[in-house]
Amino acid sequence: MQVLVTGGAGYIGSHTVLSLLQSQYDVVVLDNLSNSSVESIKRVEHITGKSVTFIEGDVCDKAKLRQVFSDYTIESVIHFAALKAVGESAQIPLSYYQTNVHGSVCLLEVMQENKVNNFIFSSSATVYGEENQVPYVETMKLGTPSSPYGATKVMVERILADVALANAKFRGVSLRYFNPIGAHESGMIGEDPKGIPNNLLPYVAQVAVGKRDKLSIFGDDYPTQDGSCERDYLHVMDLAQGHVAALDWLNCHGDFTGVEAFNLGTGNGVSVFAIVNTFEQATDQRIPFEVSPRRAGDLAAFWANATKANQALNWQAKRSLQQMMIDTWRWQSNNPNGYLEQ
Ligand code: NAD
Ligand code: UDP
Repeated sequence: MQVLVTGGAGYIGSHTVLSLLQSQYDVVVLDNLSNSSVESIKRVEHITGKSVTFIEGDVCDKAKLRQVFSDYTIESVIHFAALKAVGESAQIPLSYYQTNVHGSVCLLEVMQENKVNNFIFSSSATVYGEENQVPYVETMKLGTPSSPYGATKVMVERILADVALANAKFRGVSLRYFNPIGAHESGMIGEDPKGIPNNLLPYVAQVAVGKRDKLSIFGDDYPTQDGSCERDYLHVMDLAQGHVAALDWLNCHGDFTGVEAFNLGTGNGVSVFAIVNTFEQATDQRIPFEVSPRRAGDLAAFWANATKANQALNWQAKRSLQQMMIDTWRWQSNNPNGYLEQ
């Protein structure tokens, strides 16, 4: 019995594949490598001493998906494959709806043809939108995200609810990630953004390694303690283990049908200034910065209520903020050019 992991060569996917292998799951990865390198999979194999079946392919390619379901005995699917740059999604919305929404529909169709019902979806805290109050709890209604990217996550969650109404055997889990950062403690796999990083930690790490001059802090006039935005940062290995916990939960609850959402976060909001300070202290690197205007679409502060995942999945984010910084720096300093030839 194998787990199909779409987007498994990417940042969160590669760490999750590692955790799955270490928990004795067999893994088939399908990834079109549009935002990743197969080198991540090779390194996961090296770290774990186990092999991964890698298939280069697109989630929108139903013929390819059918081939995968016919060649392997897939029992469960973890669906990471998506486009994820919030700003870019406003420039090329159709590509985002195509990959994130149509890709999910194609995958769900082929799963249905093959009577595979276990589905874990990469959702996001962005589904709570602008109207919900923090901390976010799973009982809140889906909100209105400020970007097409966020809208795709809301749409897929809605699609899952409808699929579960139509198919009494469907067993779906939406994992709503907060802000994953850090890297595996080996320093061999990590986040490898193409071009100028959009996210805070990759940018900080590239300033530290000398690839960028200084960090721009987007706004210091928010209604928060120090004026910068607050987010719930969690270690990517804790997030990876959250997927194993969700899969174990599905496997232990054979009578469960429907769709459940779980927040995966620490429950703490941390400001941009605090991130910079903690990174400097934990790594002994200096991060020059300037305060710039606010970035369009940013919310002032949000963090998770992570009680549900804690109680139902027996999962908790355990690694400290300092550990997240140390592991980010180990990955970045060992691999200044990411997975490219050094
Ligand atoms: P990533 O870009 O590193 O990983 C996505 C992977 O999917 C990449 O390997 C990419 O090559 C692959 N992919 C993209 N389009 C594909 C397609 N059409 N067919 C097959 N493969 C395709 O991103 P990530 O940070 O690892 O994110 C993984 C998932 O988690 C995404 O669904 C993302 O929206 C979601 N998510 C990420 C964050 C975050 O902060 N990183 C937060 C919330 C949710
Ligand atoms: N941020 C910043 N400078 C950057 C990148 C991000 O000040 O170069 C801020 C951003 O405004 C937000 C926080 O860091 O308040 C986290 O941003 P990120 O893009 O990593 O995550 P998200 O916006 O998805 O929560």
